[in-house]
Amino acid sequence: MNVRISGIGMTSQRTRLRMVDRLRSQGIKDEVVLSVMGTIPRHIFIEEALSSRAYEDTALPIGFGQTISNPYTVARMTEILRNGQDLGKVLEIGTGCGYQTAVLSKLSREVFTVERISPLLTKARKNIREAHCNNVRARHADGGIGIAEAAPFDAIIMTAASTHIPSALLQQLAVGGRLVMPIGSGDQQRLHLIERTPKEYIETVLEAVKFVPLLGGVV
Ligand code: SAH
Repeated sequence: MNVRISGIGMTSQRTRLRMVDRLRSQGIKDEVVLSVMGTIPRHIFIEEALSSRAYEDTALPIGFGQTISNPYTVARMTEILRNGQDLGKVLEIGTGCGYQTAVLSKLSREVFTVERISPLLTKARKNIREAHCNNVRARHADGGIGIAEAAPFDAIIMTAASTHIPSALLQQLAVGGRLVMPIGSGDQQRLHLIERTPKEYIETVLEAVKFVPLLGGVV
């Protein structure tokens, strides 16, 4: 048995199922999302010193001034993106530690994920492999311009806050596709959902959230 993955005590399956129960009581309704989050060992995505807190409802530091989103935010964004259906081909901007990537991976055909901080991406690749996600391609780049050669995407998710919706991402969204991202800065951020129909883009402003900012360039 691989103890790091299967976990003991605060990183055990029981602790993870308590997280899922909490997410349900917080209003997450997509049972498919909940069941995936009940299987992925979130603690392996977090530094060992903090892994006992992996299933708490909190954002945690992952190094380089970045954070792993709290479980509720991951569940909620995934639920909005899925809208009750398989995800198809997904683009994620802001890999971070790769936890959201792993959740998406289990719900889609293929995930392209982009991260601008190279050492973070190296760690994320390892985490994603350990979580047995084999349909993920991780790229070191500035994700604000998307990945033109892999477009169109059925779903696009950004996990860093932007002041606007990058036009490249609108172009790379498939007809019938959905894009979810935080827009705003500091404490004034909200999730936005953009649905592309054959005729137009429909934008819906959803709840308030708190993300690190989308930054330009790579490091
Ligand atoms: N989903 C991640 C959240 C990480 S925080 C997780 O669960 O761990 C947001 C991430 O977005 C950070 O790792 C940050 O480096 C990255 N990021 C910020 N601007 C970016 C950009 N322009 N392109 C790619 N990644 C970016």
